[in-house]
Amino acid sequence: TDIEVVSTRLKKILLAAVLAALFISAVFAFLAAFIITRPVNRIHAAAMELSRGNYDKKISGPGNDEIGDLAKAFNHMAEQIKLKVEEITSQSARFKAVLLSMSDGVVVVDKKENILLINDALKKIFPVTGDAFGKKPLEVVRNVEVQEIAESLLAGRESHIKKEISRILPEEKTVIVHGTPVVRDGNIEGAVMVFHDITEIRRLETVRRDFVANVSHELRTPASNIKGFAETLAAGALNDREHAAEFVKIIEENSDRLVRLIEDLLSLSRIESGKAPLDLKKCPVRDIIEKLEKETAKQAELKKIKFEKILPSNEIYIKADESMIFQALFNLADNAVKYTHENGHVKVTAREIKGSVEIEVSDDGPGIPEEHLERIFERFYRVDKSRSRETGSTGLGLSIVKHIAEEHGGSVRVESVFGKGSSFFLILPQF
Ligand code: ADP
Repeated sequence: TDIEVVSTRLKKILLAAVLAALFISAVFAFLAAFIITRPVNRIHAAAMELSRGNYDKKISGPGNDEIGDLAKAFNHMAEQIKLKVEEITSQSARFKAVLLSMSDGVVVVDKKENILLINDALKKIFPVTGDAFGKKPLEVVRNVEVQEIAESLLAGRESHIKKEISRILPEEKTVIVHGTPVVRDGNIEGAVMVFHDITEIRRLETVRRDFVANVSHELRTPASNIKGFAETLAAGALNDREHAAEFVKIIEENSDRLVRLIEDLLSLSRIESGKAPLDLKKCPVRDIIEKLEKETAKQAELKKIKFEKILPSNEIYIKADESMIFQALFNLADNAVKYTHENGHVKVTAREIKGSVEIEVSDDGPGIPEEHLERIFERFYRVDKSRSRETGSTGLGLSIVKHIAEEHGGSVRVESVFGKGSSFFLILPQF
């Protein structure tokens, strides 16, 4: 019985001891687990933040054990990633800025001819609509030649392509394409094509060519007339009193025309070159128009044309180079007198319009057919070529007026009803 009592007590003690040992070890195990897993959890949380793009997240106070080393390595890695991401972001921003500020269009394709990138300037050259990404150049720019250039570059047939291409619709454009393959480790990874719009350059070349042709043509007629009649005189017509005088008159008229042409050409080139700076001053409009009346009086009287001027009661001034503005107004008034029939009317009106002065030169002459109005200020443009030549005109007068107006920061426009008369409006900055 005693042994059983002792044994039972011992069992109880043993059980209590086992339970106590289990409890204590559970507490220790929990503490140990907490101490080890806490920094691991912190590393995990920081890694999650990093994956979300928060590169500033750091693991604070890493210890000196293995987990502490891991935390330090993690912090270093985060720092490096941050630096690299910043570098890539700034590089990409610079690249984007360059691409956007370029006036030339750019297309970058991958090796499967799919577009990776285009810039805004390209949209000014080709009517690109929608998202170009992943499409073929042909689908986006709708030009077979561009597609062929891309294919040729990607096939490695050429290391650089320079080609002039034309686009007809919706408006005609001439473009120079420069294409280069993107090569990495000897493999073609894609291609870059740069588009330079040379439409304006080509247009100016045509204008210049036409101008030279026009000038030569205009000079040739009076020059060959002078030569022809001088030769006729030399060949014996000098003795033919009656005809000789007529021939000399023709020579004189043609020489005048040559001189006028050369003077007009010189004026035009002087104004266009911008080499003669404007002598801008406060000019009273009244004085200029009175001088205009005097200068045109003789011609007007010959054709019995009535010259009328309408000025506001107050004195108005323009900021202008007086001699140039006089030349412009003289060209307008001279045309009005020249093209208006006998007993006609020429009227010069000056008015103030919102900080500008408008000087209108109108006549009740033949007027200008509507289809010519748009081109009337072009050099050598004449409505009725044969009649203009008779009047000894050069076809440069209105072009000079336009240049003078624009040089002054002003403008000129025309309104005309065919058969009823014309009005030219010269608008200049008010002083
Ligand atoms: P031009 O030396 O031939 O007069 P302009 O450049 O001054 O050259 O004028 C161009 C053309 O415009 C003229 O040839 C003429 O046909 C037309 N034109 C200009 N002014 C008038 C006007 N007041 N009335 C009718 N036609 C005009």
